[in-house]
Amino acid sequence: MNKIEHIGIAVTDLEKSNELFASLFGKPHYKTEDVESEGVKTSFFQVGSNKIELLEGTNENSPISKFIEKKGEGVHHIAFAVDDILSEVARLKKEGFIILNEIPKKGADNKLVVFLHPKSTNGVLIELCQEII
Ligand code: ZN
Repeated sequence: MNKIEHIGIAVTDLEKSNELFASLFGKPHYKTEDVESEGVKTSFFQVGSNKIELLEGTNENSPISKFIEKKGEGVHHIAFAVDDILSEVARLKKEGFIILNEIPKKGADNKLVVFLHPKSTNGVLIELCQEII
């Protein structure tokens, strides 16, 4: 596992949050992206060498809408960059982590993504992501 690729924050109103975080960071988001398969709209901020992803659910079955319903807005996941997502999944599975999707799916920002179940990681939703080349 490499560096933290980004931190994902669940929000109820992406447009408002874009403004809020733009004033927090002192600069606007640099892109937005719909991930229809996940029912989310995302936007990205670059803060120094770090990336922050805001996520809004686009329907009530979206994992983000469900998360907010249960826990309210806030930090949703931490994403780590990996070089080889399949071998990393195999390794983590062997270590006993619960993998939510063993077959990587296409996430935002041109990445293949896999999520680990928070109940196997002390309540933190972990995303692995590998750049699609
Ligand atoms: Zn993410």
